[in-house]
Amino acid sequence: MRTTRFHVLTLFPEMIVQGLSPSVIGRACEKNIISLNAVNIRDYSTDRHGKTDDYPYGGGAGMLMQAQPVYDAHKAVTGGKKIRTIYVTPQGIPFTQAKAEELAKEDELVFICGHYEGIDERVLEETVTDYISIGDYVLTGGELPAMVMIDAIARLIPGVLGNDFSSEEESFHNDLLEYPQYSRPEQWHGRKVPEVLLSGNHKKVTEWRLEQAKQRTSARRPDLYRKYQEKQQLIKRLAVHKRNNIHMMEGLARGQAEILYSDAVSTVLLHNRRCKTCMAIAADEAAGITIAEKLPEDTELVMVSDFCLKELLVQRRFKAYGPYVQMLYTRREVLPVRYRDIRPLTPDHLPYVCGRYCDDAGGPGVDSEYIRARIQAGAMYGAFAEERIVGFAGIHSEGSLGMLFVEEPFRRQGIAAALEACAVNRMLEKGWTPYGQISAENTASIKLQEKLGFYRAEKTFWWLEKTLANST
Ligand code: SAM
Repeated sequence: MRTTRFHVLTLFPEMIVQGLSPSVIGRACEKNIISLNAVNIRDYSTDRHGKTDDYPYGGGAGMLMQAQPVYDAHKAVTGGKKIRTIYVTPQGIPFTQAKAEELAKEDELVFICGHYEGIDERVLEETVTDYISIGDYVLTGGELPAMVMIDAIARLIPGVLGNDFSSEEESFHNDLLEYPQYSRPEQWHGRKVPEVLLSGNHKKVTEWRLEQAKQRTSARRPDLYRKYQEKQQLIKRLAVHKRNNIHMMEGLARGQAEILYSDAVSTVLLHNRRCKTCMAIAADEAAGITIAEKLPEDTELVMVSDFCLKELLVQRRFKAYGPYVQMLYTRREVLPVRYRDIRPLTPDHLPYVCGRYCDDAGGPGVDSEYIRARIQAGAMYGAFAEERIVGFAGIHSEGSLGMLFVEEPFRRQGIAAALEACAVNRMLEKGWTPYGQISAENTASIKLQEKLGFYRAEKTFWWLEKTLANST
């Protein structure tokens, strides 16, 4: 199992341990999903009295942490390996959710916490890869910033928050701040809980919450609200061809996709930072060139539905998979699950799933690391017969249904339908529109989805994977 390792170089290791060990982060350490190593820089001082600071050359107020102890502590932790090393400093780039998502992909991170007036520049030049600030104010030390960052990063690592996609649909997830919330008693200090929340009418409650969230965001964070409005307008435009564009509409509505480019006609480029995936449509070849040029450097996968765009990317050394058929379920009705034993998968099932689904069967980007992350996110279900797993299905990181497999002797018994129904119901619960892409050759799967009430898009889709040759 993958353990993400956090090392913190500090003069106050107990602050880090005490601050992060209780609650969620502590439990994730116990489960070995993450490890936390607080290293006392003072232990690496060569001074007789364990001194780690001295006066700055050229004068000035306060003391400075010396290069040698920091360097030796860093060397002891990394063992000479190149590990991403963050100096938390008010002079760094601002820490954001996007940065947290990027850093959550690393296997190992080192944080250097300054104190006093900071750290000798020379050791920073030799060790630091990223300079990050948690805000435009000055704290006495880097311990709180390191804890803030570790907390935000760790909760994005699959498995840390438990099995509820929690980190995949966050606050900021749809660019709105959260609506106001109330608990018992119904009346407090003469203030009543808004009537609608006591009505038991879920539709009305949802509408009220959305309205409140909009009002609050527009008043407190007009910058976020403008982003929200821009996305809503694009969703409306995409909805004209809903079957073809559902993947983009859902990416935007669920807050997973950012708009990198969109014109008034039908050229759109969306980016899902978390899974380094883009989705694009291009009105014509010229628009396709614009899209290809705007793809972010770290893009690993691109989903397209226009032949010219697919060809363009293939010329740019992307490998094409497909064609795929896109299917979507627009009814809001919950589907019956006609199989008794369906449960979320655990990491123990990883070899079973990989043995049957990775390599070519899984399509682009699907390998054992990916499957492990989906299992840890609680996004994979298995069907069991007499305690033995006999099939599975799941929800991909960019939000589509897929990864369906049932063992030959257990086919034609409704197990695939039950697995799909389970995933559909889960998506409905979250207010999503279930959709997925199926290889155009897989007629059995297409038929199954039609039987469940899915519609088929008119356009054909391709997934394009960046090949190694392309990234060099
Ligand atoms: N003289 C430094 C300057 O003006 O940039 C400030 C030093 S500060 C008193 C001590 C340490 O606290 C820094 O070295 C840094 O590690 C940490 N620190 C303070 N404010 C921070 C912030 N907003 N974000 C990240 N780290 C911060």
